[in-house]
Amino acid sequence: SDILVEVRDLKVHFPIKRGVLFDRTVGHVKAVDGVDLSIRRGQTYGLVGESGCGKSTLGRALLQLTPPTAGEVSFDGVELTKLASGKLRTMRRRMQMIFQDPMSSLDPRQNVESILTEGLQTHGIGGDRDGRRKIIAETLDKVGLPRWALSRYPHEFSGGQRQRIGIARALVLGPELIVADEPVSALDVSIQAQVVNLLDELQDNLGLTYLVIAHDLAVVRHISDTVGVMYLGALVEEAPSDRLYTEPLHPYTRALMSAVPVPDPDVEDRRERILLAGDLPSPANPPAGCRFHTRCPWAQPTRCADERPVLREIGASRVACHWAEQIASGELRPHKVSA
Ligand code: SF4
Ligand code: MG
Repeated sequence: SDILVEVRDLKVHFPIKRGVLFDRTVGHVKAVDGVDLSIRRGQTYGLVGESGCGKSTLGRALLQLTPPTAGEVSFDGVELTKLASGKLRTMRRRMQMIFQDPMSSLDPRQNVESILTEGLQTHGIGGDRDGRRKIIAETLDKVGLPRWALSRYPHEFSGGQRQRIGIARALVLGPELIVADEPVSALDVSIQAQVVNLLDELQDNLGLTYLVIAHDLAVVRHISDTVGVMYLGALVEEAPSDRLYTEPLHPYTRALMSAVPVPDPDVEDRRERILLAGDLPSPANPPAGCRFHTRCPWAQPTRCADERPVLREIGASRVACHWAEQIASGELRPHKVSA
C-alpha cells in the first residue's frame, strides 16, 4: 500500500491530578481528541496550529513515545498500539524523531561519535566497531558535517550544525519515517532555509516519509504535500499544500492564513486580516459543539454551539465546519470583531 502511516480516531488524554498525594483525578486534558489522518510513503505531511493545540502530542503518540488513550496507529500495515514492547522497539528503528532544540535533546557530555553510536548499538546495527564507523561516516556526509565533528561536543557547534547532528542521529538508524517537531523554530531565519532544504534533499535521496510539525505556516508550506491544521486537539482542515494556502476553507485556517505576510513586498496585500476574538480555550474544557465557535467570526446560532462538525470532503480538502460552502461563496459574512 502507498499509505505508510494511518491514524484512526486517536485520543491522548492526560489526567489532571490533585490532592496531597496527587492521587485524585479531577479531569483530563484532551491534548488529542479524535484525529484521523494518513501519510503516504515518500511524502511530507505538515501539521500546523498554535502551541497547545496537540500537534506535538500527536507526533509523539504516532511513534508511541506517548501512549494513546484510544484509537489506532498503524505503520506499514502493523497496528502499533497492540504490539508487545520487543516488537515495538524493532519497529521504532524505522520511525525516528527530530526535536526542536538540539541543545536540550543532545547529551552535552557525549561527543558526536558516541551520540551516533548509541542508537546503532541499541538496535544492533552495523556489526562491529568498523561497521558502525562506516555507517556513521556515511551519515555525516549525508547531513553535510565534516569528519572532525566526530570528536566534538554539541556545544562546540552552531545551532544549524547542532540540528544537523540531531538529523544525523535520526538518520543513522536508516528510518523510513521521520517526525520532525518544530525542526527549525529554534534557528536563525537565515539558517532555517538551509535545514529545510537539507530535509527536502534527504527525502528525495532516501525516499523518506515526513511528519513535519510547526507553528509557522511558512516553514511547512514548501516541503509539505499535504497540510493538516489542528485546533484544540482536533484536525479542522486538511488539504494539498497549495490548495490550503490559496483556498483555505475552515474559518480557523482562514484566520491563520490572513496573518501570514505576503512573500513579495511589491505585491499589495489586499487580504482582509481576520481577527479572532478571545483566547484559546483550555483543552481540559473544550467548548461544546464546534470547538472553534467561541472565536469564530462566522459562528451561527445555534448549530455551531450544539453540534460538533465532522471532517468531511469538499473537493480535494477535508474540512470540519458546518458552513464551509456558505462561507466560501460569500453567502455568510464574518461578524466584525473588535480588536
Ligand atoms: Fe465557525 Fe460554525 Fe464553522 Fe465552527 S462550524 S468553524 S463555529 S462556522
Ligand atoms: Mg509543539
